[in-house]
Amino acid sequence: MRQPLIGRTANLRAQTVNKVNIDCSKVIQEVSNFIEGDVPAELRLLMEAHFLECAHCYAILDGTRNVIQLVADDKVFDVPAGFGMRLAKFIRDLKQR
Ligand SMILES: [Zn+2]
Repeated sequence: MRQPLIGRTANLRAQTVNKVNIDCSKVIQEVSNFIEGDVPAELRLLMEAHFLECAHCYAILDGTRNVIQLVADDKVFDVPAGFGMRLAKFIRDLKQR
């Protein structure tokens, strides 16, 4: 789901004095586009600066990147042999507590 960036980009242009001046909700909204290299250069700069300052958004960037890599590599459901049985046992043990 992509939203048009025209209005937002114009907004960002007015804020170029402070490069970190972008809020977390905007960063999170664009994080997967950022990873795919699909954000305008100006927004990319703002986001890069924001990730340096904001541990919360950096963690989301990191986590999203991992998920995207796993999905791209087709490894999401490719778990080691026996993992399913160990997981089922773990859940059974949890229930018995
Ligand atoms: Zn943030």
